[in-house]
Amino acid sequence: MLKIRRQKSDSNINYLAAFEELGHRIVDDITSDNIFLGYTEPLLTLGDGIRETNAIAYLGPAKSRSNLCIATSTTATKVLIENGMAIGVQITTSSGETYKLYATKEVILSAGAINSPKLLMLSGVGPKKHLDSLGIPVVADLPVGQNLSDHNLAVVLIQMDEIHGPIPPVNPYTFPLPITTGYVALDKKQTYPDYQTINLVIPHDSPTLLQVCVNVFKYSDEICNKFYAAGINRTTFFAVPNLLVTKSRGQILLASNDPTDDPLVYTGMYSDKSDLKLMGKCLADFASVLNTKYFRSVNATLVDTGLCSDKSGIEFWECYALAMSGSMWHYAGTCAMGSVVDNTLRVKSIQGLRVVDASVMPAQVSGNINGVVTMIAERGAEFILKTWDISVD
Ligand SMILES: Cc1cc2nc3c(=O)[nH]c(=O)nc-3n(C[C@H](O)[C@H](O)[C@H](O)COP(=O)(O)OP(=O)(O)OC[C@H]3O[C@@H](n4cnc5c(N)ncnc54)[C@H](O)[C@@H]3O)c2cc1C
Repeated sequence: MLKIRRQKSDSNINYLAAFEELGHRIVDDITSDNIFLGYTEPLLTLGDGIRETNAIAYLGPAKSRSNLCIATSTTATKVLIENGMAIGVQITTSSGETYKLYATKEVILSAGAINSPKLLMLSGVGPKKHLDSLGIPVVADLPVGQNLSDHNLAVVLIQMDEIHGPIPPVNPYTFPLPITTGYVALDKKQTYPDYQTINLVIPHDSPTLLQVCVNVFKYSDEICNKFYAAGINRTTFFAVPNLLVTKSRGQILLASNDPTDDPLVYTGMYSDKSDLKLMGKCLADFASVLNTKYFRSVNATLVDTGLCSDKSGIEFWECYALAMSGSMWHYAGTCAMGSVVDNTLRVKSIQGLRVVDASVMPAQVSGNINGVVTMIAERGAEFILKTWDISVD
């Protein structure tokens, strides 16, 4: 339903050649034929020539079905559980009215890796000690909210040759910039990647540089102003190296038993120090692209954030990894299969309750996770149809 395609760009040719010079394979499809390493122009959710979300691809065509009701601006605040069985949900509308909706078959939570555990814990499904501390009656003692994983990143901005003239226009309906991705193992004998890098080529004087810096990666004004200044009359190469297999784990806890309170998100990023060491090495490995023929020919230089200027070598990169640490927003694992849900995504110890979203991933995936979440949803739909013996035309 969610169609994908590549958005090829001539601007990428020189960059891919630079990574090839470093010994990386340039591949058409990183997901096929047991090729898990190399640089490519990635697949994007642009199948119909326009960027699509799952809401557009799946809900769009289904929204007028008579057996589907979509309530926007409505928040689920609790799963109603009676005698160990989920019987419905409590919701609050945007005007503050509260309703109870009852299920005839089962309740499915898809609120994501932060809010699905929040809802379960508010409903008494979670770690007993934590629920007791908030006065929430325990229905099932399960490690809900634990095992939070993410891919952590540190943006590296490279300033290229001086360029003048009008700013090239950006088409907001497609991916706005030339993009390449790389999957790299530091140990050449290893078959899976340590890090991924997503590389954007940003035209000179482009407001897109600020948008990406502020809105997507949430860096401080101080950093984003420096980045923007670096892009005046210069093309910039905005690279997002991120660790794919991390040992650090975080957790989601409730701040209170009030559903309107945001949960507490402890990312746990770099809580296992070996992740920081590895990230330092990955950043140093990535930065070797500055010594390639093409990068040298355009006088490429690393934009100095001023954050770790007193350090050099691997110490610089470890400092940089911490100072520029950010999230790929790949939160997952907080209602993990095995410990919280079973192998058909049903919450353990509770009847009639399933979780279908990124929170069920027991381990990390080595790449962007939206495709995997979509696959989990497709598989979850199969489990549900099979449980209730429903056939679909
Ligand atoms: C800025 C950004 C960029 C990203 N870029 C990429 C990318 O390029 N590639 C990629 O693969 N992944 C990307 N991701 C990650 C990807 O979007 C997520 O991994 C994916 O959407 C997770 O799917 P989900 O169904 O688990 O949760 P979500 O997509 O978060 O869906 C949860 C839904 O539940 C709703 N909800 C939550 N709580 C309640 C409640 N109490 N009541 C009712 N509704 C509720 C939310 O509004 C939301 O619509 C990006 C994420 C962000 C934030």
